[in-house]
Amino acid sequence: MKTIYTKMTEEQIDPEQIRLAGEILRGGGLVAFPTETVYGLGGDAFNPESSRKIYAAKGRPSDNPLIVHICRLEDMERVAVRISDEAWKLARAFWPGPLTMILHKCPDLPAETTGGLDTVAVRFPSNKIAQALIGAGGGFIAAPSANRSGRPSPTLARYCREDLDGRVEMIIDGGQVGLGLESTIIDLTEKEPAILRPGFVTWEDLQEVLGKVNAGSLAAAVTDGAPKAPGMKYRHYAPKGRLTIVEGMPENRAAYINDRLRRCREEGIRTGVICTDETRDLYVADLVKSAGSRESEESVARELFRILREFDDEGAEEIYAESFDSSGIGRAVMNRLLKAAGQRIVHV
Ligand code: AMP
Ligand code: MG
Repeated sequence: MKTIYTKMTEEQIDPEQIRLAGEILRGGGLVAFPTETVYGLGGDAFNPESSRKIYAAKGRPSDNPLIVHICRLEDMERVAVRISDEAWKLARAFWPGPLTMILHKCPDLPAETTGGLDTVAVRFPSNKIAQALIGAGGGFIAAPSANRSGRPSPTLARYCREDLDGRVEMIIDGGQVGLGLESTIIDLTEKEPAILRPGFVTWEDLQEVLGKVNAGSLAAAVTDGAPKAPGMKYRHYAPKGRLTIVEGMPENRAAYINDRLRRCREEGIRTGVICTDETRDLYVADLVKSAGSRESEESVARELFRILREFDDEGAEEIYAESFDSSGIGRAVMNRLLKAAGQRIVHV
C-alpha cells in the first residue's frame, strides 16, 4: 500500500485533506493523526475490520484494547452505558483533553475494538486536527498510539512514517505534539475510581473533582495475572539499548553513572545518558541528552519519547536515566521510564 502524506496545522486545517481522510476512515482504512498527547492510529470504531487492521499495522496483540476517540461530549452515550455521575463530572472538567475514561461498553460496539472486554476506553481529544478528523470519519475513531508495538509513542509525524509507512492509508503531519505522553487512564467501572495509567491529568487533579481516587501503582507492574489495563502486561517504549534508571542525590547519581560509563568505554560500548539542563555537564557519555529543565516537568514529558527514539537511531547500547519526582506530571514520566527500562532501577 502507498501511504498518502499530508501536512497541516491546527490553525490552518485543510478541509479537502480532512474530507479525504474521513472517506478513508469510513471506507475501513487507517489514518495516523496528531493529538495533543501523541500521534494516534485511527480506524472506524464501529467497524470490526478496521480494528483488526489497527492491530495488524501495529503488530499489536489483539487483547490489548483501543481507545475510542469522540469529538462531542454527548457522544459518550453512543459507546458507553450506565455512565456514572463521576464520569460526567470528569468529562465536564477535563474534556476535551488528555483524559481517557474506562466505562461500561455499549453492546453494539464491536468486541474487536475493546479487545473482547465489556468495558470501553473513551477520550475526547483537544487537538483541532484530531477533532476535525473524528467528525469527518463518522464520530467514533478507535485509536491507539501510532507506533509499532513496543516502540516509544510517536511525538512527530516522522516517527509514524518510520513505523507505519506502507502499512496505513494516510499519515497527517501536524507538527510536534504538545504534551508528548499518552493520556491519563481512569477506570470508572469499579466501586472506587482508579488510575490505570498516569498522565497530564494528575492524581491530584482527579482528586479535586472526585474526592477519593486510587492512584494505582507507579510501575503499573508486569503481573502474571490478568491486569486491569491489558496494555500493562506488554513491554513498552523499550529502546534497543539497555536502559537503567538511577535514583539518589544528584552527586551520587552522577558518580555512579560516570563510573558505569567509564567501564563501558573500556569495553567499547556506546553509551547514552538521559538527564536535565541542570546536570548535563556532569556526564561523560557518548550521547548526553537533556530532556529540559527540572523546573519544567512538561518539557521532560514532551522530550522523553523523542530521546528514546534518538538513542535507537544513534546506536546507544547502554543507557542511564536520572529518576524524576513521582508526584504531579513526574509520576507519568517515571511510569513511562520504568516501562522503558523494564522496571530496572538502582538506588545510590
Ligand atoms: P495506547 O493508546 O496505544 O496507549 O493504547 C491504549 C491503552 O488503553 C492500552 O494500554 C489499553 O490497555 C488501554 N485500554 C483501552 N481500553 C481499555 C479498557 N476497556 N480497559 C482498560 N484499559 C483499556
Ligand atoms: Mg501505545
